[in-house]
Amino acid sequence: MNFTGKTAVVTGGSRGIGRAVCLELARGGANVVLCYAGNEAAAQETVSACEALGARALAVRCDVSDAAQVKGLMDAALQAFGAIHILVNNAGITRDSLLMLMKEEDFDAVINANLKGAFLCMKAVARTMMKQRYGRIVSLSSVVGLRGNAGQMNYAASKAGVIGLTKSMAKELASRGVTANAVAPGFIDTDMTAAMPEPAKAATLDSIPMGRLGAAADVAKAVAFLASEEAGYITGQVLAVDGGMSM
Ligand code: NAP
Repeated sequence: MNFTGKTAVVTGGSRGIGRAVCLELARGGANVVLCYAGNEAAAQETVSACEALGARALAVRCDVSDAAQVKGLMDAALQAFGAIHILVNNAGITRDSLLMLMKEEDFDAVINANLKGAFLCMKAVARTMMKQRYGRIVSLSSVVGLRGNAGQMNYAASKAGVIGLTKSMAKELASRGVTANAVAPGFIDTDMTAAMPEPAKAATLDSIPMGRLGAAADVAKAVAFLASEEAGYITGQVLAVDGGMSM
C-alpha cells in the first residue's frame, strides 16, 4: 500500500501491534509519529526501524488518557509534518481479575487508557481532518469487546466502547471524507498476551479455529488497509483479525 505524502499518528507504537503498524505504514512511505507511555528505548528502536525503511519518524512520550499530553502529541505531529491524515488508536493496557476481586482503580485505569485515550485522540485530530476533508481513523478493539471474557470486565467494556466511539465518529465525519473503523484482534503474540497465565493461554488457543496465535504483522496489514486511500468507502466497520475465534 502506498502512503507517500501521508502522515500517521500511531499511539502505543513502541511495542507489539503498534510497532508492527508503524513499520507497515513506513514501508508504504508514510511519515510516522508514534507515542509511548514510558518505554523510550523501545520507541526509539521503532523510529530507527521506520527510518531504515526510508520513512521519516518521530517518537513522543504521551499518556493518551491525558488531554494536554494528547494535544502535545498532535501539535508535535503537525509541527514536524504539517498534517495528520491517519490516526491509529492502538495504545492499550490490561488489569485483569474476576469481578469480585477487581479494584476500582484497575477499572478506571483500563477505561482511561483504552477508551478515554481513543476519545481524546479522535477529538484532537477531528478538526484537522475535517478541514483537509480527508482522514482515516483506525482503532484497536478486541474479540473480547465483541464477546466479553471472564476476568476482563474492565477491558471488555473499554473495547466494546471503542466500537461505539468508532461508529459514532464514522457517522459524524462521513460527509467530510473521514472514515473511522475498528480492528478486533483475537489472540496475538505480544508482551500483553505473554503476561497471561499458561492455563488461560492453552484454553484460548483451543478456541481458535486456526489453532495458532496471530502475529502483530497479521493485525498491522488489516490496519494498514483500513488506513489506506483504497478503503475510502468503508466506514463504521469492525474487522476481526482472529483466526476465526469470533465466528
Ligand atoms: P503491548 O505489547 O502491551 O503494547 C502496548 C503499547 O501501548 C506500548 O507501546 C505501550 O507503551 C503503549 N501504552 C500503554 N498505555 C499507554 C498510555 N496510557 N499512553 C500511551 N501509550 C500507552 O500491547 P499489544 O498486545 O501490542 O496491544 C496493542 C493494542 O491491541 C491494545 O489496544 C490491545 O488492547 C489490542 N489488542 C491486543 C490483543 C493481543 O492479543 N495482543 C488482542 C486484541 C486487542 P510503552 O512501551 O511505553 O509501555
